[in-house]
Amino acid sequence: MNIPFFNYSFIHGQYKQELSNIILNLSEQGSFILQQELSDFEKNLANYCHSNYSVGVGNCTDALYLSLKAAGIGKGHEVIFSSHTFVATASAIHNTGATPVPVECGEDHLIDTKSIESAINSRTRAIVPTQLNGQVCDMEEILEICEKHSLILIEDSAQSLGAKYNNKAAGSFGLTGCFSFYPAKVVGCYGDGGAVVTSDDEIYDKIFLLRDHGRKKIGEVVTWGINSRLDNIQAAILDFKLKKYHLDIDRRREIASKYIDGLAEIDDLKMPRKPGSDKRRFEIFQNFEIEIKDETDRDKFRQYLSNKGVGTILQWGGKAVHEWKGLNFKQKLPFTESVMRKSFLLPMNTSLNDKEINYIIETIQNYFK
Ligand SMILES: *Cc1c(COP(=O)(O)O)cnc(C)c1O
Repeated sequence: MNIPFFNYSFIHGQYKQELSNIILNLSEQGSFILQQELSDFEKNLANYCHSNYSVGVGNCTDALYLSLKAAGIGKGHEVIFSSHTFVATASAIHNTGATPVPVECGEDHLIDTKSIESAINSRTRAIVPTQLNGQVCDMEEILEICEKHSLILIEDSAQSLGAKYNNKAAGSFGLTGCFSFYPAKVVGCYGDGGAVVTSDDEIYDKIFLLRDHGRKKIGEVVTWGINSRLDNIQAAILDFKLKKYHLDIDRRREIASKYIDGLAEIDDLKMPRKPGSDKRRFEIFQNFEIEIKDETDRDKFRQYLSNKGVGTILQWGGKAVHEWKGLNFKQKLPFTESVMRKSFLLPMNTSLNDKEINYIIETIQNYFK
């Protein structure tokens, strides 16, 4: 068997005809920039994320950057994030002029709330937790910390569209929530794409201006801005996919449960939380990240899986953000570093059929026999 980590052509083939029609029709109309399909998608996405508004932007990195800018974050400020994230979380902070402050993740790989508390000082202005792997962080505690220290909360929800905590959608806890529609994300478009969701009138107005050169709808320039618009064709594709997305979530949760049940007996592996096991949480499994207890065995194990035709990857290329030498972080985060040495991703995609999942489970079982 050959099971690639990700299968782009399957994703395209699934709704080939419908998506081709969307692209063709909008191209014939010349509806490319800031058109009806974008407004429709923004409305539907806001609803889906239990928020009043959404603004389509170029990608999630811009969504984070524009959120921080609109919230007044900049030079002299510190912003806390979990180092087990994509570099984009930190670069969005850095590019506002503020200082990104990496903290530890916990056992579940989500930001560690104790580590947040010990990083707070008088310069701290905001926390940007990453809703990692399709899970939602401990939002009760994080909101409490924000309240206690008057900090702004911006959610990096790039991996958690549709995930919930106490029935509240990822992205709807903070001043804004930021999403990515990069092709390999749970809802992906045909290139780069992203969005901000918010229920704050003022922040919505600001980000709406910032993403289009500081212009109001009629073209009047009222402030400095950038060009970071979600293309109309991408928005139309995403609107179509969002309507089908619940089917993908069901399947992803089913695959996660199969992995967790099938590998439960293997003491050398640590699995994510089983869907339904924590009643507060509803996970959508953007990724299925597991740990091998003996980190010195990880690369050999991945090589074995590769020889058996099972594609795996190391998230973020195998390093937490603070570990990239070129970024000049001074922090040492031993727990996160050990997590990075032990972790990797198994295939987690709607393209996987049961036969393939069973094959992956059996192949893993055989290794530990
Ligand atoms: C994918 C991702 C991003 C970046 O999204 P882009 O749309 O590529 O800018 C940011 N944060 C996390 C956690 C991601 O997984």
